[in-house]
Parts: sequence; C-alpha cells; structure tokens
Amino acid sequence: MWPQSLLSSDTQLNQQSYYEASVQRPAPAAPLQGTVQADVVVVGGGFAGLSAALEMAQKGLSVVLLEAEHIGSGASGRNGGQAIVGYASGQGPFEQQLGVQDAQRAWDMSLQAVDLIGQRIAAHGIACDWQRGYTYVADSPKKARALRAECEDHQRRGVASTWAEGADVARFIDSPRYLAAFRENTSGHLHPLKYALGLAQAAQAAGVRIFEHTPVTDLQRGATLVARTAQGEVRARYGVLAGNCMLPAFGPRVAPEIAPRIMPVGTYIIGTASLEPALCERLIPGNAAVCDNNFVLDYFRFSADHRMLFGGRVSYTTMTPPDLKGVMARRMGAVYPELQSVPVEFVWGGFVDISMNRAPDFGRLGANLYYLQGFSGHGVALTGLAGQLVAEAVAGQAGRFDVFARLQHRAFPGGALLRTPSLALGMLWYRLRDALG
Ligand SMILES: Cc1cc2nc3c(=O)[nH]c(=O)nc-3n(C[C@H](O)[C@H](O)[C@H](O)COP(=O)(O)OP(=O)(O)OC[C@H]3O[C@@H](n4cnc5c(N)ncnc54)[C@H](O)[C@@H]3O)c2cc1C
Repeated sequence: MWPQSLLSSDTQLNQQSYYEASVQRPAPAAPLQGTVQADVVVVGGGFAGLSAALEMAQKGLSVVLLEAEHIGSGASGRNGGQAIVGYASGQGPFEQQLGVQDAQRAWDMSLQAVDLIGQRIAAHGIACDWQRGYTYVADSPKKARALRAECEDHQRRGVASTWAEGADVARFIDSPRYLAAFRENTSGHLHPLKYALGLAQAAQAAGVRIFEHTPVTDLQRGATLVARTAQGEVRARYGVLAGNCMLPAFGPRVAPEIAPRIMPVGTYIIGTASLEPALCERLIPGNAAVCDNNFVLDYFRFSADHRMLFGGRVSYTTMTPPDLKGVMARRMGAVYPELQSVPVEFVWGGFVDISMNRAPDFGRLGANLYYLQGFSGHGVALTGLAGQLVAEAVAGQAGRFDVFARLQHRAFPGGALLRTPSLALGMLWYRLRDALG
C-alpha cells in the first residue's frame, strides 16, 4: 500500500545521516503502556510537536507527546538546517486570500519564527551550532531578475539585504555557476537534530511526558479525545496532530481528511569529509547557508565541523533515486568544480510535506483537535512558531493561529494512488523550465 512504501523508503533514507552520526542520543523513552490522562495529547515528536508541547507545558497544562519512532527521526532531524524568513509559497496566497494587512502579519510572524530559535537556544542552553547568514543565488539572467525582485521585496519588508551581480557575486559565494546573489543576516542555519533533542529536553524539564516507539493508530474525537496506541491510550481535552507526511502511514484512521492536502516529496542531502576551514570560508564567505531560486532547488552550507552539506534533487514518487550519492555529488560539482573529487561520507534524505499552494496548512478538526502541516520545505523556523500559535489558541488567544487557519487549501487531485504519478508528470515541466533558464 502507498503509505507503507512511503514509510519503508523514509526509514531507509535515514540510515546514513550525518546528523544521526554526530549526536549522542539519550536513552530511548519507553513506549506508552496503559491509560494516561492529560490536558493535551501531541502526536509527533518533530519540531512542530515538540514546540507545541513545550509551549503548552510552560502555560501550566499537562502534556503527553507520543512519537511513533524517535524524537527528531522525521524531517526535523534530517533537514538542510536552513531557517529561512518568509514562506515557500511567497506572499501570494496570503495576499490573495487574507488581504494585504494579514499577509504582512504573516510575513512578520515568519521573522518572529526565526527569532524564536535564538530565544529558545538561549533560554534552554541548546548547543546546536546556530549561525545567522543567508545567501540567495541565481544561475541565469531570467532567474537573476526574479532574485532581484525578491531582494527588493525583502528590503521593503524590513530584512536588510545586500545585492551583488557579475564579478561582485564572489563577495558571497565562490562558484562559477551564479550570475547574481543577495545576502541577509536574519535567516540562518543550525544542526537540526541537536536542536530537536534540545527541544525535547526542554519540554521534559517543563513537565512533558514523552513516549517513543508509540505510534497513534486511532484517535477518537469528542469533548475528551482518546489517542490509541498498541499498548495504551491517552485521554485528553485537547490534541495536536504534528505527524507530517508519515501520519497516514502510522495512523491511517487518525485524520484521513487532512492527508490528501499534502504531498510527500523526497529531497536528499550529502555530507562530505571535513574540509580545510580556509577553503570553506572562501567558498561561502561568512559561513552563510545558500539556496538557489530554481524550482528544483539546490540548498547547501557548511557544518560546524566543516563538511559541505549539499541538498537538492527531488522525487515525486516514494522511490529513492538510483545512484543517489553519485547524482548528488555531480550536482555539488556543478556548483563547486573543486569539490568534485572530495569524499562523500554521508547520504540521506526524507520527505517534505508540500501543500498545493505551498502555504502552511494549520487548522482545527472540531473544537479541540489542532493540526499543523504543509510546511512545504520551509519548516525549520515555522514549525516552532506553529507550536507557539497552537498553545496560544488552546489558551483562548487564537488571533495569530487564525491568520493561518483562514487560508484555504485544496486536496491534490487523484487521491493517494494517483496524485503521485500525476504530480510527477506535472513537475517534469518545471524541471524543464529550470534547465532552460
Ligand atoms: C531532507 C530534508 C531537507 C529539508 N530542508 C529544510 C531546510 O533546509 N529548511 C527548512 O525550513 N525546512 C527544511 N525541510 C522541511 C522541514 O524539515 C520540515 O518542514 C519540518 O521538520 C517538519 O516538522 P514536523 O514536526 O512537522 O514533522 P517531522 O519532523 O517529520 O515530525 C513528525 C513526527 O511525527 C511522527 N509521527 C507521524 N505519525 C505518527 C503517529 N501516528 N503517531 C505518533 N507519531 C507519529 C513521525 O515519526 C515524526 O517523528 C527539509 C525536509 C527534509 C526531509
């Protein structure tokens, strides 16, 4: 069945992750056994679920978090680590659906989402290599014009951004590939798995009870929610669904109505051997994270131990592309020819939850069950904010949450079986457009 092949592909993609190899995980939390009462049950131990759990515990609520596998074993512990202002959709869906004022409010919240990372790192002493600095690049004249417009939009919206083109691009990146670039110091990058584990520790210190290896298979709705697992259940007044793409795989009956509104898209990363620090500083001055503006984008940065972590490629099926390491190394070589022969020591990937319009999809199922999905590859910062907004809504202040909940989302056509091949076909067009410039 489709969700099961997705799950096995997802599990296999986390076997050679640099992040897993560079952390010391604490002893696993025991699975849930028996019946537990709480104010809130959170499904999913990624950034979104952890953030919601932490915020609600800080408000004095009793919180149980159920994670099907390990904390941060989903997208949150595998991503590019790039915490970026704005939204994958751009401002378009916000302005069209909510009007200019609330669209600007959403933009401002995206800046707060990045700031929240720094605040949490400071408040909870999370060592996760957080570093500000972001460079956007374009590899054709047409894309350079689009990038310039984006740079000016950032400047208009209060993100100080410096433009460069031609030979000047070398100030921000030493690659023969790019014709234009801009740099800002609001966005940044971090070690995502260290951050996820740090959030979990902070949540536990605030009183959250975490159970790992505890997939929620069913969720009974009503004034009291009952989240059922293999050997137990949680009875709670409120629930938060933060299971991302794997929610239908672990719990097909939990919330089938929201699953068709997101599409799992595979994306992949390689990690090289550690490089000379001086070479890293030359290739990306100021240790920024970098992203191009292609539809199938490349995103890359250096880790704290000077490895190039190079992400890109996409897959619209559940299958991992053949020769992934070789494909990714060639993509990196196209950006940095001098890294072509550098050893690649890690290769991993995961699935991004894209929504049709690439805007986040937050909302309620009934009065007391919240869901957070559709981060569309822009979740490192936004998930943290999302958790905070749910906690505010549960505490009776839903104003900020409802800015997002008012956005309308459509299901992908074709249902679970057909949406993948039909999207794959559609995306061929965009790949062609990238190639033609
Ligand atoms: C390879 C890759 C690169 C990326 N790069 C970036 C980037 O550079 N910048 C950026 O902003 N975003 C990036 N993203 C996206 C970002 O990682 C996600 O948007 C974000 O981590 C989503 O967090 P989450 O908490 O919603 O989901 P997840 O981190 O996936 O957490 C969901 C958790 O729920 C659990 N779960 C699911 N169903 C159940 C159930 N029924 N019961 C119990 N538990 C369940 C899962 O096991 C999982 O641990 C990337 C994603 C990938 C895969």
